Amino acid sequence: MRSNTTALLLGLLGLPLPAGSRQATSTHPVAQAHTKTAEPEKQRTLSTRVVAYDIAARLDPAKHAITASETLIYHNLTGQPQKQFPFHLYLNAFQPQSTFMTEVRRDDPDYSWKPEHYSAIKITQFEATGMGDLTNRMQFIHPDDNNTADHTVMQVELPTAVPAGADVEFKISFEDQMPEVVARTGYLRDFYMIGQWFPKVGVWWKGAWNCHQFHHDTEFFADFGTFDVKVTLPQNEVVGTGGDLVSTTNNSDGTKTLTFHSEDVHDFSWGASPSFTDVEDTWTGSAGTVKIHVLMSPGNMDTAPRYVKTAKDSLTLFDQWIGPYPYDRLTIIDPPHGGFQAGGMEYPTLVTADTAWYMPKGALFPELVVVHEFGHQYWYGMVATNEFEEAWLDEGINSYTETKIMNALYGKSTSVGNFPFAQLGEDDSQRFTYLGRPDLDPLTRFAWLFYDDRSYGEITYGKTTVVLLTLEKIIGEDTLRQALHTYFMRYRFTHPTGSDFIRTVEEVSGKDLHWYFDQAVSGTEMFDYSILDAHSDPLKWWETSSHPSSPKDELYRTYVTVRRNDDFIFPVDVRIRFDDGQIVDEHWDGRDRWKRFTYDRNSEVESAEIDPDHQIWLDRNFYNNSYLVDADKRATKKLSNIWGFASQFLAQLFSWLA
Ligand SMILES: [Zn+2]
Repeated sequence: MRSNTTALLLGLLGLPLPAGSRQATSTHPVAQAHTKTAEPEKQRTLSTRVVAYDIAARLDPAKHAITASETLIYHNLTGQPQKQFPFHLYLNAFQPQSTFMTEVRRDDPDYSWKPEHYSAIKITQFEATGMGDLTNRMQFIHPDDNNTADHTVMQVELPTAVPAGADVEFKISFEDQMPEVVARTGYLRDFYMIGQWFPKVGVWWKGAWNCHQFHHDTEFFADFGTFDVKVTLPQNEVVGTGGDLVSTTNNSDGTKTLTFHSEDVHDFSWGASPSFTDVEDTWTGSAGTVKIHVLMSPGNMDTAPRYVKTAKDSLTLFDQWIGPYPYDRLTIIDPPHGGFQAGGMEYPTLVTADTAWYMPKGALFPELVVVHEFGHQYWYGMVATNEFEEAWLDEGINSYTETKIMNALYGKSTSVGNFPFAQLGEDDSQRFTYLGRPDLDPLTRFAWLFYDDRSYGEITYGKTTVVLLTLEKIIGEDTLRQALHTYFMRYRFTHPTGSDFIRTVEEVSGKDLHWYFDQAVSGTEMFDYSILDAHSDPLKWWETSSHPSSPKDELYRTYVTVRRNDDFIFPVDVRIRFDDGQIVDEHWDGRDRWKRFTYDRNSEVESAEIDPDHQIWLDRNFYNNSYLVDADKRATKKLSNIWGFASQFLAQLFSWLA
C-alpha cells in the first residue's frame, strides 16, 4: 500500500535531472506458464488451502454498518493438535486507545482524534461445530505490546483440541461499524471500501501462532484458501470485489444479494458506490484472459484510460519478467474526491488507485499507484510474506519492480514527472526517499518496531529499492530479474522469508552475497565513498626554471586518493581522465579507509570519478564522487556534475517535505 506521495511531490516540483538512457527491457521466457483449466480443481490447486471462508454480509448504508455471519473451515496442517485459535479483528484499530492510534499519536503529537474515524468489529456469537457456543471463551490478547486496551486480536480456547490433519468449523456472527475512510477502509459519502472487515484466523508459522496486533505500520499475513462471499446491499450499488461474480438476486426489500467466489487467495475485500462507472476491458497473457474492471468515481473519468493502460502494461511486464498472473480478474477501485485514505491499497485481485481531477498528464502519479498496487498481486498476493515481520519483502521488492516497470514504460529519467520544464525518474525519486533518514533501522526490523512511521516508509520502500538497484551493479540487471522470476515461481502461494529470497539471489547469480546483504539488509551501515584528492605534480618539481621546450615532454606524478567515509564496505570503480584524453579505470575493494593510485605520465590528471556509470544508488552523497581539476593546473577544486548536484539538492528538499 502507501502511495508514493513523495514521488508525486517531487514530480510536481519538477526539478530537473539530466537525461538517462531508456532502460533496456530484455525479457526471458516464463519458465512454466500455469494453465487454469488443465486439471480439475480437486486434483491440484494453486495453493495449499488452509482456510475456507463463507461469509454472508448485509450493508446498512444509513448506519455505515455491516452485519454478517461467517463460517470458517480451518484445515489443521500444523502437524499437531490445536486448542487455541487467534483471530485478527482489524477494525478495532480505529479507537483512541488502540495500539494503532497510540502509535499514530506517538509519531504525530498534532494528530487529533476524529470521532468519525471510530470503527469496530464485534463478534456477537462464536461457535465451533460439535463444541457448542464458545462466545464466553473469547478473550483479547496483546502479543506485541501488552496494551490491554487494544482489541485487534481475539483468541478462543476450544474445549477439545483439533487433531492434526483434521478440520474445525467455526460459525461466527459479527457486526462492523465502518469508519469514515481511514487507513484504507471505510466510507465517504456514498462510497464504501470494505477491507480488513471480518474475523480472520492467524497463521501457524515457524511452530507458533502468528497473529500480531494491528499497528500503524503493519500490514497483513494470512493463509491461502477459498472465499465464498454474499453481499446484500441496495440495488443501485455498483460493486467491485476480489472475487468472481457467481450470482445476483434481487430481493423484495429493494436490496440485491451478490455472490462471489475466490480461491487461492488470502483475503477478500470489496468496494461499492451507486456513483461508480464500471469501465471494463480484458487482457490476455500466458495464463489466459483477465477481465479488468475499473470502478471510476465521478469527476475522475479522464484518468480511466490511464488506469486501464497501466493495468495492462503491468500485467504484460510482470508476465514477461516475473511469472504468470493466474487469476481471471483484476478490479481497480478509484476512490472519490477526498477519499485518498482509501487509495493506494492492495488486496488479492483488487487494488485501489488514486488520482485527482486536476492530475496533469506529466505527473505520472495515477500510473505509479496502479503499477505499485498491481505489483502487490505478486509480492503479497501470491508470494505471501509476513508483512508484520518482513515488510521489505513485499513493499520493498514491490517498490523495486515498480521502479523497473515505470522506467520501462515512461523512460528512466521521466518515469515520475515529465514536464517540458522538468523531469524526474523513479530511481532518483526512490533514492530521495531512502535519503530521508537512512540510518535508524535495518530493513529486517519488525514493522511496528521501526523508530517511527517515517523511518518505516523510507527504509522499507526507498532503501529496499536502492539496495536492489545497487545489487544490479554486483550481479547485473538481467540476473536480478531472473532471480526475482525464480523466487516468484518457487515461492508463489507460500510464505517465504528473507533468507529464502537471499538464497535464491545467491543461487541464480552464483555469487556469495552475504557480505552485501549483511550490510544492506540486516545492517544500518551508511554508504559514502569520495574522491579525497586528485592532483598532478612535475616529477622534477625542483627544476622550476628549466622546463623542456615542449610541455608534453614533461613527466608528471599524479595522485588520486579514494576514501571510504562511512562503514559500508563495497568495491568501487574509479575513472581517471588525463588531459591528453587518456582514461584509466581502477577498481578498489573498498576495505581500507582510503586508497591512493599513483601514475607517472606525460599528462596531468583532469578528473577522477567514483562509480562513473552511476550504479551505486546506495551512496548517500553523490556530490563528493567526482573531482574536477581546475583548468589552470595549480589548484584543484571540487565540482560535481549536474547530476550529482541536482540529486543532492533534491535530497535536501525532500527532508523538508517528508
Ligand atoms: Zn505497497
